[in-house]
Amino acid sequence: MFQIKGCVSSKMALIVAKFGGTSVASPERIKGVADRLIKIREQGDQVVAVVSAMGKTTDELMGLAAAVNDDPPARELDRLLSTGEQVSMTLLALALEAKGYQSISYTGRQAGIETNGTHNKAKIVKVHNERIERALDAGYIPVVAGFQGIDANGDMTTLGRGGSDTTAVAVAWGIGADICEIYSDVDGVYTTDPRIAPRAHKLASISYDEMLELSSAGSGVLQMRAVEFAKKWGVIIHARSAFSDAPGTLVKEESPMEQAVITGIAHDTSEMKVTIRNVPDTTGVAARVFTALADNMVNMDMIIQNTSRDGATDISFTCPEADLSRAVEAIERVLPEIGAEGWDVDEDVAKISLVGTGMKSSPGVSALAFRTMSENDINILAISTSPIRLSMVIEAAEAQRAVQVLHTAFDLDSDSVFEETQLSAEEIADKMKKGR
Ligand code: ADP
Ligand code: ASP
Ligand code: MG
Repeated sequence: MFQIKGCVSSKMALIVAKFGGTSVASPERIKGVADRLIKIREQGDQVVAVVSAMGKTTDELMGLAAAVNDDPPARELDRLLSTGEQVSMTLLALALEAKGYQSISYTGRQAGIETNGTHNKAKIVKVHNERIERALDAGYIPVVAGFQGIDANGDMTTLGRGGSDTTAVAVAWGIGADICEIYSDVDGVYTTDPRIAPRAHKLASISYDEMLELSSAGSGVLQMRAVEFAKKWGVIIHARSAFSDAPGTLVKEESPMEQAVITGIAHDTSEMKVTIRNVPDTTGVAARVFTALADNMVNMDMIIQNTSRDGATDISFTCPEADLSRAVEAIERVLPEIGAEGWDVDEDVAKISLVGTGMKSSPGVSALAFRTMSENDINILAISTSPIRLSMVIEAAEAQRAVQVLHTAFDLDSDSVFEETQLSAEEIADKMKKGR
């Protein structure tokens, strides 16, 4: 039986159920996951499980690699990291068998997950679903290793941190599942990370576009690629708890009723701010700097060029800390060519992002956000916007406080259900007027 948002159908449903690292962290928890899968089966539905590696296994494997090689080749790293999910998938299949249910585990290759050859952050290009479908037809509960696939050379690839979410969505699409359930240690998508702001609220639903912005702005609850894939192919995600039956959050196409001004706040401490000092303010300089950075595959996010004094200016940009060595190499290369004075890196920064579809038609958002930061003495180092996102770079030490004060300022703290806590455009305008 299949139930979604109060509508119950007696038709057998096909469900993909993905369990993250915390949910499979111990043999006891794996047995708990087996019980949950059995419950789904006993309700008369068909289920395919997708698993992450146990607990912190992926971090531990990365640590092992770093202990023997401080710059491990990407192919070898993928070979190593993909073993984590192969342990959990087999243990889950064994646990199901021990409880009297037929189960069969598949690596990414066996499950037909074909990717491009970009090791460490490969993209899924094809899903061959035949094997999973045959197993389902034969009455098995298939268990698929998340986070991995196979490239055209037959080499193991991995899909980037958090990539088991993407495996789950891709499998759901491949087999035409009714829903992709993503089970984790949190019972849904909240207005912000509940570990940072305990007064965060669970959302009943969120649109693909808003979830994409939250994921890309650092909200780790769902991998961005998974949301991208789900949006493209219309896969409905249900993010929910592995430890309770509480309904979670549906990630799906937006309905016109759900135009919240601010839906959620994300924070990201994995970026750094680079400043190139005293760059001559002449034509073509920015082009040279950013071409060199692009050539070195540095993923720039925000770019700030200050007003020039005495014919020179500072150019700053933000990018992932992981790109540091490539960014430094590129800057060192162009510095003599452009005649800049030098450069600084500030790694102690955080990006705070407000996300909401209704922002498009609510001009007061930036003003209220900036005023809130100023009233709380939090200095904004850089700003960027998209139609449904406002991001501010601040000192990392202020990140938690910034999330909390913004969460309060945008009235996301209320105890009532989320729908009733959203500010309308008029209410934001009203708040701004009162603040003047
Ligand atoms: P898993 O290991 O199961 O994939 P993750 O650790 O990737 O789980 O994702 C769950 C975590 O995401 C939560 O523990 C929570 O701290 C964090 N998180 C960040 N932002 C949010 C948010 N807006 N709503 C819910 N959880 C969030
Ligand atoms: N095990 C991988 C990671 O830790 C993939 C995942 O959990 O989704 O990133
Ligand atoms: Mg995750």
